[in-house]
Amino acid sequence: MNVRQETQELLGRMGVPAGRLSGGDLVVRSPVTGEKIAALKSISAADAANAIEAADKAFRVWRNVPAPKRGELVRLLGEELRAHKADLGRLVSIEVGKIPSEGLGEVQEMIDICDFAVGLSRQLYGLTIATERPGHRMMETWHPLGVVGVISAFNFPVAVWSWNAALAFVCGNSVVWKPSEKTPLTALACEAIFARAVARFGDAPEGLLKVLIGDRAVGEVLVDHPKVPLVSATGSTRMGRDVGPRLAKRFARAILELGGNNAGIVCPSADLDMALRAIAFGAMGTAGQRCTTLRRLFVHESVYDQLVPRLRKAYESVSVGSPLETSALVGPLIDKAAYSGMTRALEAAKAEGGKITGGARVENGHAEAYYVRPALVEMPKQAGPVLEETFAPILYVMKYSDFDAVLADHNAVGAGLSSSIFTRDLMESERFLSVEGSDCGIANVNIGTSGAEIGGAFGGEKETGGGRESGSDAWKAYMRRATNTVNYSKALPLAQGVSFDID
Ligand code: NAD
Repeated sequence: MNVRQETQELLGRMGVPAGRLSGGDLVVRSPVTGEKIAALKSISAADAANAIEAADKAFRVWRNVPAPKRGELVRLLGEELRAHKADLGRLVSIEVGKIPSEGLGEVQEMIDICDFAVGLSRQLYGLTIATERPGHRMMETWHPLGVVGVISAFNFPVAVWSWNAALAFVCGNSVVWKPSEKTPLTALACEAIFARAVARFGDAPEGLLKVLIGDRAVGEVLVDHPKVPLVSATGSTRMGRDVGPRLAKRFARAILELGGNNAGIVCPSADLDMALRAIAFGAMGTAGQRCTTLRRLFVHESVYDQLVPRLRKAYESVSVGSPLETSALVGPLIDKAAYSGMTRALEAAKAEGGKITGGARVENGHAEAYYVRPALVEMPKQAGPVLEETFAPILYVMKYSDFDAVLADHNAVGAGLSSSIFTRDLMESERFLSVEGSDCGIANVNIGTSGAEIGGAFGGEKETGGGRESGSDAWKAYMRRATNTVNYSKALPLAQGVSFDID
């Protein structure tokens, strides 16, 4: 098969001209074969700043369009995504290495958030609040914010953009997007798909969406630009440590969606068949390259010898291979650096007394493609690499005996994204969800850590950054709130009974 040619055909069908794909400095490789599939031109800092200015101009027009009408544009975007689901899903598989159902699932998530945002466009509600002053009315209004900067990671190359963009557009904002330098092609596809929706919509301002192709330096232009009041940045905690303070320095808002080190607890009463499947998908799915991937597993000593041998067997038998040509469940790692990181973590785990099943590289005839067998590591205790996120399919398994102690271990890492418990004991599940339970932004019972739906607010605590995007009331971060008090009386009573009479 010719991956490069197929990439060009897919992009052509979605509306990206072939001329954009060659002759540039930014080399794009498919992790499936390791081959070069495009060389895009990175944007200069000056052109990135110009794009932000253009998006700011577009915002000043778009904010005056009634919100339900803005929703119509997002409805059309959802329609275009439906029409191009197969092509965009396939391109995600080519550019990231996701298996077909996950590539398509990512596009489905985009469609889902568009549907959500269309409904939201008629529900940007503010409160009416009881006032202490007679003849007065107090209320909240929500206004568009401005240019929303989106910086995204390689592993959800298109869904993360749509979670932010669909809400940002209905909220009356424009969007400037800096996709991962590892996955710019799917971003170009989204830009073209969005342009189709804009053409059908008719009178949207030019510049509503700008895509900035480039590396971290281009992201920094977005982070530092005074006309970007909000940056939603998804990526590593290392990136967040740089981006967060820079935004704070200029009092811009941040939605930080950073690394996870997600854990599951398997209790004595757990349905082990169900737990096994959830653990296998959570830990090995997407080759361990989800922010919500299950990385730590605590198993009660009474069920350890029933569950862990079965898990070992699943690790030994899971299929690893090309997502484009086989029906394997585990595709490639994104690149060599990811493979090196995995190797280093496994060596460190061994030094801490870890017993490893799997983890070896799988040769597939492409020297620059990095396929690995997922690794299951039985650890004597939570130490060393277990405390960090390694963005690869490594699951550390530990035995526990005491519920209080396991809750403490569960929370004893820097990240706080996703978590789950497998139990049929009501008290255990309620304690896990309670104030003294999981400290994560996502806490699940009898389902795994990965695979969130768009209806809930998505994000995590601590070193995961504290941001929330997607469903629930996450939209509020994309708008500014004004509290309005209207006096319809003939007097001027002051709040708190203060008197200030002048002659
Ligand atoms: P990364 O941090 O290397 O890069 C992410 C993005 O940030 C890229 O677009 C990159 O160019 C940009 N960037 C990096 N440093 C920057 C800086 N100083 N200023 C501006 N932009 C900068 O992450 P990655 O390897 O692409 O993705 C994997 C990481 O992302 C993992 O840690 C994973 O857990 C995390 N992630 C988190 C979520 C979430 O919702 N919490 C979702 C997906 C991925």
